[in-house]
Amino acid sequence: MRITVNRDLCVGSGNCVMNVPEVFDQDDEDGLVRLHVVEPPEDLYEPVEVAAQMCPVGAIEIAPDDGAADGTTHVTPEAATHVTT
Ligand code: SF4
Repeated sequence: MRITVNRDLCVGSGNCVMNVPEVFDQDDEDGLVRLHVVEPPEDLYEPVEVAAQMCPVGAIEIAPDDGAADGTTHVTPEAATHVTT
């Protein structure tokens, strides 16, 4: 999971900070969202997803990991069965 936040959309409601303070914070100056962690541990995936859903302006985007750190791409067994030659 990779998180991005759009500070241009954020209205500083603080929902995300209340839901997952390990990941989200608010800027002391302008009150807008700040990210502590871009790639959270798996045990925080669910609360991060809830925080994204509860953001009133859709400022939090979540992307799945698209590959391992070494640049390889994960292929699931299901996906592999659909490969044609
Ligand atoms: S919930 Fe959305 S609008 Fe509220 S502080 Fe977080 S990112 Fe900003």
